Amino acid sequence: MIADEKVREVRERASIVEVISEYMSLKKSGSNYQGLCPFHGEKTPSFNVNPARGIFHCFGCGTGGNVVTFVMRMEGMNFPSAVKFLAKRVGVEIPERPLSRDEKRQMDEAEILYRVNELAGEFYQQVLSTDEAGEAGRSYLKGRGVDRTIAGIYRMGFAPAGWDNLAKHLQRKGIAPEQAEKLGLLRRRDGGGFYDTFRNRLLFTIADLHGRTIGFGGRVMDDSLPKYINSPESPIYRKSEVLFGLDMAKKGMREKGNAIIVEGYFDHLALYRAGFTNVVATCGTALTPGHLQLLRRYAEKAYVLFDGDSAGRKATVRALDLFLEAEFPAAVVRVPVEDDPDTFLRREGAAGFAPLLDQAVPIFEFFYKDLLTELDVRSVEGKLAFDREVKPRLMKMRNSLERSLYEKEIAKVLGLDQGTMRRTMGPAPNAPRPEPRVKRETAGPREVLLSLMVKFPEVTTKVMQHGADRLFSGSELAVAQAIVAQTAQEGVDIPALLENIESPEERTRLSSLFVEDEHLEDIDPLKAFEQCRQTLERDYLKRVKTLARELAQVDPESPRYRELLAEIEQLRNIKAKLL
Ligand SMILES: [Zn+2]
Repeated sequence: MIADEKVREVRERASIVEVISEYMSLKKSGSNYQGLCPFHGEKTPSFNVNPARGIFHCFGCGTGGNVVTFVMRMEGMNFPSAVKFLAKRVGVEIPERPLSRDEKRQMDEAEILYRVNELAGEFYQQVLSTDEAGEAGRSYLKGRGVDRTIAGIYRMGFAPAGWDNLAKHLQRKGIAPEQAEKLGLLRRRDGGGFYDTFRNRLLFTIADLHGRTIGFGGRVMDDSLPKYINSPESPIYRKSEVLFGLDMAKKGMREKGNAIIVEGYFDHLALYRAGFTNVVATCGTALTPGHLQLLRRYAEKAYVLFDGDSAGRKATVRALDLFLEAEFPAAVVRVPVEDDPDTFLRREGAAGFAPLLDQAVPIFEFFYKDLLTELDVRSVEGKLAFDREVKPRLMKMRNSLERSLYEKEIAKVLGLDQGTMRRTMGPAPNAPRPEPRVKRETAGPREVLLSLMVKFPEVTTKVMQHGADRLFSGSELAVAQAIVAQTAQEGVDIPALLENIESPEERTRLSSLFVEDEHLEDIDPLKAFEQCRQTLERDYLKRVKTLARELAQVDPESPRYRELLAEIEQLRNIKAKLL
C-alpha cells in the first residue's frame, strides 16, 4: 500500500502534459492539449488533455483519467507500479518496506529482467571504457571516429572474447542464469551450464522509450558473419513495437514534426551526432505497422533513408506498402550510391545532408520511378509488368486527389490516357474510409450540474443550500458530496475525484465531462444552476407519470407492482425536497 498523501504528491508533481508527451505529440488547443489517441487507431485527434485539471479523455474510445491511469494503461501496470514509476520520474521517495521472501519471489518478473539487463549493460560498458579486454572495441570505435562522449550517449559496451565472462559476472551479482537466458544474454550449453551469447562484439544498448535497457545489438570486430546479432524477443523486448533510438529521438521528432528512419546502428549514430536527433533505426527487423503507429504519436511525416542496394530498395518497397496502408506520409532520402549515411555525413557534414531532406521524393514516386529503371515500358510486356506492380499500390491510396495525380503521371509513362487507365483499374475499392464520427453524448442535467460545481464554487454553495442528496443519487451523489467537501477545503482535486470512482463507465463519463469546459466559459453559473434544477424537477414529474401509467396496467399481485410503488414513493420524496 502506498500512502494516499504520497499518491497525491506524485500526481501533483508529475505534469500530465509532460508525462503524456513522452508517449506522443500533443498540440495546444485552447486551454487543452490534443493529440492522436494512443489507445485506439485514429487520424484526427480526439484525445484531450486538460493540464489545469490534470486529466485526459479520448472522445474516440472513451479512455480517460489522470496521470496515473494514463501510465497504467500505457505501460500495462497496476496502480502501485504506476505510482512508483511516476514517483521515480518526479523525485518523490516512496518508502519501501522490506519484502518478505514470498513477495520477493513474486516481484514483477519484468522488474527483474530490467535489472539483469542493466547489470549486463554496466558490465559491457565497463569493459569498453577501461578493461584490457575492451581494447579491440576501443580501437574499432577510434577507426570509425566515435569518441567516448558519443559511446557514452549510446551506452556502448564491449563483450570480451571468451565463453563465460558475462555468465561469471552475473553469477557474482547473484543473478540466476535462467533469468539471463530469458533475455538471450546467456545460452544453455549441451552438456549443462551456460555460455555468453555476445562474444568479441561491440554492443549497442537497445532501450525502450523511457531509456530502460531491453536488449543489445552486437557487431563483430572483423568481416565474419553474421555482422550483427541482436537480443531475441523477451517479455520486455517486443521487436515489432521497438525502434532503436526512440528514447533519444522523441524530443527531436516532436519539435520537427517528422522522423527519419534508417536501417543500422551506425547510420543512427551518424545522423544523431550531426544534429539530426529525430532519427530512429530498424536494426535488423522489418518495419511493422506497430512501428508506424508508434511513430505517428510523435511525427506527421517520415523520411526513409535505407541503403541504395537491392536489399535496401526491397525494404523501401515493403515500407511503402505499410505507409500506404497507414496513410502515413513518407518520403525517400537518397545518399549517393557509393555512400552510406555514415560515410556521407563524415565527409559532407550536416550542411551537406540537410539539402537531401529537402530533395526527398514521396515514397510512391520513388517506387514507380525506380521500377521504370528496371522495366522496359516501351514493350507491352514491360507495360503489363509495370502495371502489375503499380496498380495494387495505387489502389491503396485513399486520398483521391493524390491518386488521380499519380494516375495521370503513370498514364503518361505507359502512353495511355487517364480515362483508359482508370477503366482498366475498375472502381477504387478503397474509397476513403470515413473515420467514425466522434459522438459526444449530450450531458444530462445532473452531469452539467457536476461540471458547473467543479468550475464555479458559487454553484457548489447553491447545491449545498439545496442539499446534494435532493439533486443527486447513487454514484453522482458521491461525486457531488466529494466536490462539496473539497471546495470547502483546498479546492476541487479532479484527478483524486476520478480515482475514487469505482465504475469504469462512470469514470469515463465524468472524465469526458471535466476534460473540456470551455463551453461553460460565458455562462451565468447561477442561472445555469436554476435551469438544471428545473430540468431535474420536470424529469422527476415525467418519470412519476410514466410509472403511474405502468402501475395502472400491472397486476397488483406481481412483484413489478411493488417495485413501481416503491420507486414512485422515492421520487415523491425527492420531489417534495426539490420544491
Ligand atoms: Zn482513444
